[in-house]
Amino acid sequence: MSIKKFKNSQELYERGQAHLVGAVNSPVRAFKSVGGSPLFISSAKGSKIIDVDDNVYIDLVLSYGPMILGHRFPAVEKKIKKALRHGYSFGASSKGELKLAKMICSAFGSMDKIRFVNSGTEAVFSAIRLARAFTGKDQIIKFSGGYHGHADALLVAAGSGLATLSLPGSKGVPEDAVKNTLVAEFNQIESVKNHIKENHNIAAIIIEPIPGNMGVVLPNEDFIKGLNQLAKEHKILIIADEVMSGFRSKFGGAQDLIGLNADITCLGKVIGGGFPVGAYGARNEIMEMVAPLGPVYQAGTLSGNPIAMAAGIATLKELKKQNPYKKFNKIAAKIEKAFLKGSKEFDLPVQVNRFGSMVNPFFTKEPVTDFPSAQKSDTEMFKIFFWEMIQEGLFIPPSQFESWFLCSSMTKDEIKKVTSGIHTALKKVAET
Ligand code: PMP
Repeated sequence: MSIKKFKNSQELYERGQAHLVGAVNSPVRAFKSVGGSPLFISSAKGSKIIDVDDNVYIDLVLSYGPMILGHRFPAVEKKIKKALRHGYSFGASSKGELKLAKMICSAFGSMDKIRFVNSGTEAVFSAIRLARAFTGKDQIIKFSGGYHGHADALLVAAGSGLATLSLPGSKGVPEDAVKNTLVAEFNQIESVKNHIKENHNIAAIIIEPIPGNMGVVLPNEDFIKGLNQLAKEHKILIIADEVMSGFRSKFGGAQDLIGLNADITCLGKVIGGGFPVGAYGARNEIMEMVAPLGPVYQAGTLSGNPIAMAAGIATLKELKKQNPYKKFNKIAAKIEKAFLKGSKEFDLPVQVNRFGSMVNPFFTKEPVTDFPSAQKSDTEMFKIFFWEMIQEGLFIPPSQFESWFLCSSMTKDEIKKVTSGIHTALKKVAET
């Protein structure tokens, strides 16, 4: 193995400081929690991504989820090119919006109608506005370690970049903006019950069906049953934030696989095929409260953008055709096995959580079932592991608290490279 060098990335990182905040447009890209110089990417194709120093990696970040088919999948690229010839943005409706909406609603039993927006953040804060309007109540329950984008009301006990940077929340969020946000513990139904006992103004519980922003955590069955029951009893809506989990473990939502009775669903990432798309949807009686049919205002200049719709439609069509979900489970199981074998051989504390095409190792002895147990991970070990994976030509998220993602373009050889890279990286952790 030749030692990878990052001269060009380093230079861009330094130059980028002049006119970009920390040289990035999203904090996790700065590699702060793993140190060292963040990668600047020049191109990507299939399951490979190439940085500006011409280092080639198997991509297990996949733009944090959207590139589920791999990069520049031919059938998707063809449709994007075709759409480009018709215009970039119209400020009026176009056919693609109808088509993608129908495809998505057909894949979710819980949605009759959806509204497209431009990001997961937008989808979530619009869904909360809608839940408040529908129920006439103001409070929301979220789970610690759950990340739902960067709207003020949700920057409380959040995972993802905030967990990575060990930030408790965010400066600039007034107390008023979060006074209606109650935080419960994932997988602990009593913590939800307690809030409901003490508060009578709860509009919604927002949950990632398969949390991926404290690392991957799996919900236990009784917890989900309990949530369904409490929501029904107390007329509280369940908002399933499937921005990450949507279309990743089945063609549709993880809500079906875990039996979560979602009232409103938020989507993003995969449905835009790599372009900025988000969406929220629900049954008719809820969605018909949104303008122009109802009194809940929500709008977007670029919403339903024709290029993004074309990418989304082509991605979903191809996903349906390939049906790669069994393949994902098999790859994820191989990754888990490599970790368990390595941890035994090198006597390291490792846990692996996985669901469909989301996988996550944690450097800790105890099972990871919620945010406090995820936070017990040894982030120093993760740091060493991360850089060794980079040296092995494997691009994984530069944070202990982000899910790895799989794409359907991965070949058998590449899977072998991943598992042998994990072995080498664990060895390095043990030796350091
Ligand atoms: N919800 C979840 C579950 C997410 O994982 C994310 C982003 N990782 C968001 C919302 C926010 O989406 P975006 O970054 O597109 O605003």
